[in-house]
Amino acid sequence: MRGSLKTNLRAAATAAILFSLVMLTFFVENMSENKKTVDAYAQISSEAQVSEAVAQTVISSMEIPSAESMPETSKDVPAVSSAQSSSQESKQEPSKAPEKPVSSAPPETKSTEPSKSESPKADGKKTVYLTFDDGPSPVTPRVLEVLKKYEVKATFFVIGTSYTQHLKQITEEGHAIGLHSYTHNYERCYKDEAAFIEETKKISDLVKQHTGIESKLIRFPGGTSNKVSKKINKGIMTRLSKTMTELGYVYFDWNCSNGDAERKNVPASELLSNIKKQTGEKQEITVLMHDGYGKWTTAEALPSIIEHFKEKGYAFDILTTETKPYQAKPAN
Ligand SMILES: [Zn+2]
Repeated sequence: MRGSLKTNLRAAATAAILFSLVMLTFFVENMSENKKTVDAYAQISSEAQVSEAVAQTVISSMEIPSAESMPETSKDVPAVSSAQSSSQESKQEPSKAPEKPVSSAPPETKSTEPSKSESPKADGKKTVYLTFDDGPSPVTPRVLEVLKKYEVKATFFVIGTSYTQHLKQITEEGHAIGLHSYTHNYERCYKDEAAFIEETKKISDLVKQHTGIESKLIRFPGGTSNKVSKKINKGIMTRLSKTMTELGYVYFDWNCSNGDAERKNVPASELLSNIKKQTGEKQEITVLMHDGYGKWTTAEALPSIIEHFKEKGYAFDILTTETKPYQAKPAN
């Protein structure tokens, strides 16, 4: 009995030791598996960081593309009718605007009736005012580069975007700066008169902070004859055009548009053709163009647009409070 008990105890002890060894081995293996898993996560995570860094680089290099990376112009895109193109204001949102402008606003129609300011000047001098709305944006430096090359001055109606570093460059290079509301959000801008005054004050403060200039030039989002505001506040444009004038601002509309508000990156050839169609024999032309995301072709078409006006004998000028403004009739 004693011998068999001893044997049994020995067997039990051996089994316990073996079991412990197995457990230990399992534990150690499991630990190293866990370690592998952790390493794998570290690997994935570091790859993710790398690809994010690559994406960042791609994004930042896309923001200011070289001339070569600009889309080729194409002639097979149907041209926009001049009435349509001159009737559009941009619904494009500046992608980095601190507050998102409304993008779902329906297209606005604009009166093509000539305003009284279109009466011919006695001296027969022809003047063109190039205007760029919705900036500053990544496109601004390209626009400024072209303007500098051709020694032409223009007017920028700006909104609140994060590209404020370009504001100073605009004014330092001799261009005029105007106010186009802070958010370009129709619901906010046209809620009531106080709201628009507040929007104007906010963008005015931003411009002043960066340029030291207190601009009195304004362009209403969508233009004075926009119909979008009708759904927001009946009669607001009629009242605002009076109120803003009484407050010492001069508002400017346009009688020519390159049609870049139609869609993103309208081919440069189409932008030029839109301008040519609307030039006619006008003595004073205020041209609406846009400076924003998806408006690279606006900068691309600019040299040919400038050359067109030069060939037609136009002098380029900036808008000031002394300029006889082209003002459209309010449609609301
Ligand atoms: Zn605009």
